[in-house]
Amino acid sequence: MSNKLGEKRKEYLNWDEYFMAIAKLSAARSKDPNTQVGACIVSKDNRLLSTGYNGAPNNFHDDKFPWNREGAPLETKYMFVCHAEANAIDNYRGYKKEFEGARIYVDLFPCNECAKKIIQSGIKEVIYLSDKYKDSDSTKASKLMFDTCGVSYHQMEKEHQKTLKISLEPDKPVEYIKK
Ligand SMILES: [Zn+2]
Repeated sequence: MSNKLGEKRKEYLNWDEYFMAIAKLSAARSKDPNTQVGACIVSKDNRLLSTGYNGAPNNFHDDKFPWNREGAPLETKYMFVCHAEANAIDNYRGYKKEFEGARIYVDLFPCNECAKKIIQSGIKEVIYLSDKYKDSDSTKASKLMFDTCGVSYHQMEKEHQKTLKISLEPDKPVEYIKK
């Protein structure tokens, strides 16, 4: 068969890879010295709706924020930090009906607080990478809520867990690192 159209590239990102890469890139904005999490919300027809990463509330200066994990409650981040998923939902400035049936990409399985926000927002699918806190009550509560409330979740398949090298120098395309 003649090939007048030319062949398309073989090594392009599929939707899951593309949106997970955006979630990971968003995590790179986090100032948290210990945990960087990114999230990205995508409509049913694959339009990027919002992104988020874990950080201080708006107008809480990063340099005045307690990034500690241990110590008195008011000296740790836990009282104050806004999670990536919550930020992706809350920072969206469009019409929230767009979230109906949407999916969210996260590099870490959502905590129970974010799970509630995800459910209430109308998002119906969670695609995650790490489930490293799967034995925690928080993650167990998230899964119980997702199962009960009709939100599906799955880890991005191993074959799609690619490694990319992104250079911000001119004329350097993204490289796909072979494992
Ligand atoms: Zn959370």
